[in-house]
Amino acid sequence: MPDEVDVAVVGAGPVGLTVASMLAAYGIRTVLLDRASGPAEHSRAAVIHARTLETLEPLGIVEEAVRKGVVVPHFGIRDRDRRLLAVDFDGLPTAHPYTLMLPQDETESLLRGALGRQGGEILWGHEVTEICQDTGGAEITVRSVQRSVRLRARFLIGCDGAHSTVRETLGMRFEGATYPQSFVLADARMDWGLPDDEVQLFFSPEGLVVVAPLPHGHHRIVATVDEAPPEPSLSDVQALLDARGPRVPRPVVEEVVWSSRFRVHHRVAAEFRKGAIFLCGDAAHIHSPAGGQGMNTGIQDAANLAWKLALVIRGYASGSLLDSYERERKQVAREVVAMTDRITRLATMRSPFARRIRNVLLSGAAGRSGRLAGRLAKNLAEIDITYRNGWSTEGSSAVERWAPKGDGALPGADLAFGLMVPSTHAHDASAVARRFPGVPVRAVPKPGLEEIAIVRPDGYVAGRGAVGGEGRLLESLAKALEA
Ligand SMILES: Cc1cc2nc3c(=O)[nH]c(=O)nc-3n(C[C@H](O)[C@H](O)[C@H](O)COP(=O)(O)OP(=O)(O)OC[C@H]3O[C@@H](n4cnc5c(N)ncnc54)[C@H](O)[C@@H]3O)c2cc1C
Repeated sequence: MPDEVDVAVVGAGPVGLTVASMLAAYGIRTVLLDRASGPAEHSRAAVIHARTLETLEPLGIVEEAVRKGVVVPHFGIRDRDRRLLAVDFDGLPTAHPYTLMLPQDETESLLRGALGRQGGEILWGHEVTEICQDTGGAEITVRSVQRSVRLRARFLIGCDGAHSTVRETLGMRFEGATYPQSFVLADARMDWGLPDDEVQLFFSPEGLVVVAPLPHGHHRIVATVDEAPPEPSLSDVQALLDARGPRVPRPVVEEVVWSSRFRVHHRVAAEFRKGAIFLCGDAAHIHSPAGGQGMNTGIQDAANLAWKLALVIRGYASGSLLDSYERERKQVAREVVAMTDRITRLATMRSPFARRIRNVLLSGAAGRSGRLAGRLAKNLAEIDITYRNGWSTEGSSAVERWAPKGDGALPGADLAFGLMVPSTHAHDASAVARRFPGVPVRAVPKPGLEEIAIVRPDGYVAGRGAVGGEGRLLESLAKALEA
């Protein structure tokens, strides 16, 4: 283990792996520590949404993820045999108009591959036990089987999950509450008569149940129950589906290949940053699994923070750029917690009268439910995130994802802003960019573009202007980075 690094990442779950891979790609000296003796082997979070796939594209793992996973373009909300709402991802303005079902252990394995290709490695069996912050960064005590050592890091990122040592050591409050129910989780082989290109969420007074296709012909079943058994059995899962799922055709569970239970909280950390220390992923926010947002939101935290830290460490930006991480991502975490909480409460309503009203409203007038379904699709896919007070060249303004003609791909894997220009203008734009050696920017020609834009390395638009206004736009970018 090195004595000193630029960034220490605590936790090699999907979020820590993402941030460490991105920092390694940006040329930052990073160490990734995990107290476990090796990778987790369970499937856990199985949904990868469109925005997460866009975010992971620069790491070069999306093609393989799509090959290994199940592409699911639809999401349906049902009350037993009645379909209340059909949410279609296939019309979404993205290169990935679907959710991808892939067990978390496989996603993590792809991320470990990406980290390895960038020359990074994971120090398994290394637990962070103490953190002391000073003006130069953090002094970290790391315990391994052999010994306890000290490590200095200019920055530290806590990606150490819901029971985060980093969050607790720094005394950051985790505000929210615990759902009264527990959640049953099972991966099963079964005879499932409903379409396999759809994730189905069943509302029921007994509690919600979600059924989603997984690779190898398996299905993921998630359900809320008052008290879940430690390892739900085949008959537990069958009983849940009989009480809440479709009556015709009746699903028949043939084998439970993995099952677990967990209690769910809805909580957001009071702070996402204290000085040189940041929280990402479950360490910063946890919520109901309805909608499968947990891992997705965490991976996007990682992408939001990685480029900002890299620009500051490499001297391209002042430290104030880092203030925008908490501003932008806490807003998103709160929105995700609120949305998943609304779905969970709607799904588990007990009063027959309230349920009737809910069902009428959801399946109501085609126009209205069509708009609701469209909004929900964008929301679940996380492609509609707008940072209300986000970081941009214009100061505080609404910062949106770059997505002309639905192309929400990020500019590239390197640490550069994209100067998006019409193809006919690429030569002039490159010449203007060369006049700003202190600003990492690359001209990106796009056919048919009617305006120019500066796109941040995480794919959000930092500024827009008229064609020919590249110089002005780059000047304001340089000022914003210095501020
Ligand atoms: C049983 C189960 C089922 C789930 N199902 C779903 C689902 O269906 N959909 C969904 O969206 N989400 C689900 N989740 C949640 C999802 O797994 C998390 O959102 C996701 O793993 C968060 O990733 P993370 O990297 O933030 O944290 P984690 O994956 O929790 O990783 C944290 C890592 O930090 C390490 N660590 C902790 N403390 C220390 C320390 N002091 N020093 C060093 N290392 C440390 C741990 O060993 C671990 O590897 C489920 C979780 C569980 C447990």
